Amino acid sequence: LPADFQEALPVLEAIEQAGYEAYFVGGSVRDHILGLPIHDVDIATSAYPEEIKGIFKRTIDTGIQHGTVTVLMGDDSYEITTFRTESGYQDFRRPDKVTFVRSLADDLKRRDFTINALAVDVKGNVIDKFDGLKDLDKKIIRAVGKAEERFHEDALRMMRAVRFQAQLDFTVERKTAQAIADNAPLLEKIAVERIREEFVKMMLSNSWQIGFADFLKLKLSEYCPGFKGQSAELTELLEPQNKVFLDEDQAWTAIGFVLNLNHNEFNKLLRNWKVSNKTREASVNTLNMLHLFENEDFDPWNIYKLGVDNLERTIQLCQMFGIEFAYETLRQKITQISIKNGHDLALTGKDICEILGVKPGPIIGKSMSQIERAVVEGNVSNNFEDLRHYLLSNQ
Ligand code: ATP
Ligand code: MG
Repeated sequence: LPADFQEALPVLEAIEQAGYEAYFVGGSVRDHILGLPIHDVDIATSAYPEEIKGIFKRTIDTGIQHGTVTVLMGDDSYEITTFRTESGYQDFRRPDKVTFVRSLADDLKRRDFTINALAVDVKGNVIDKFDGLKDLDKKIIRAVGKAEERFHEDALRMMRAVRFQAQLDFTVERKTAQAIADNAPLLEKIAVERIREEFVKMMLSNSWQIGFADFLKLKLSEYCPGFKGQSAELTELLEPQNKVFLDEDQAWTAIGFVLNLNHNEFNKLLRNWKVSNKTREASVNTLNMLHLFENEDFDPWNIYKLGVDNLERTIQLCQMFGIEFAYETLRQKITQISIKNGHDLALTGKDICEILGVKPGPIIGKSMSQIERAVVEGNVSNNFEDLRHYLLSNQ
């Protein structure tokens, strides 16, 4: 057993000593068998949540109605979920009713893909009811049971298929892929936040092109915000080879670029995807910067206003899209920019009041902006004495 499982072993043993079953399940088992690093260890058990709480001293009711209790042990915490079946899937979304069961087999049956439906017991034996090991070996993503039915139960699983494909560099098995192609419109029933979570995980994977290509080919993209009728444009994203996105902001910017969106259209697309404000603002600014560089506009003040933090992302995107420009000129201009924002100025509003001998008022803001711009444009260095001098001689 890998170290992460070893550490959690006392938890499983305590549950078994109390007369119940407990197993490692889900992503950690899959990743362990693939030899990948494990992030969170999920445990499934025949014990009901109340019974788990009776066994351990320190627990948190994480999602009691879904059967999940977090057990705290030393510095570690483990999510323990009671075996369950799900029923009453309405509107192709998550089930409205979960039923706790005592059998592992029933629990594994409700899981999305065979590679995610493996369990490991305390002795390290793998329980494999759906040939998940074979599929891991063949690098295949295959729905547990009838793919069509499984996607009707929860349409998000279709997005999960392409996400795992990108993360693991796997292929979606033929029938499962066919069922996605047949049921892609069901994605419209799913909350955009849930789609986005899978989409972003896909885009930030090493093999994102593989997942993204199927996301387009199987028509999932047609049912995502702002992507309808855009598959030809989105395909352009696949052209630059061997590229990995630095972060979510950069991935969105690349999308805005191939979709040829203007500032407002891109902002709207990101709002429709419900991305965080922070990511939305950074992505919009990065796209604007990309357009500046495309036009060989390296004005330091323009760059500064769009965020010095977005520079690296933008330069990489230029390389990715083969945008050629005078890198030397850009490099010269950006070394001038010695501050990231107004807070980095070596002088405060209070200092300005003292230097000019005035009371706080609009003049302070004006002087501040003047100094900020002068520093960014390289007309004065950012130290107190030089700034004081500049201020007094530019009255
Ligand atoms: P990750 O590495 O992203 O954590 P994971 O496989 O652990 O991957 P989770 O979303 O954490 O994925 O879910 C844990 C497990 O729960 C999955 O391995 C799968 O067995 C099951 N599962 C999660 N979401 C679904 C779903 N929508 N339908 C069916 N089973 C699911
Ligand atoms: Mg997980």
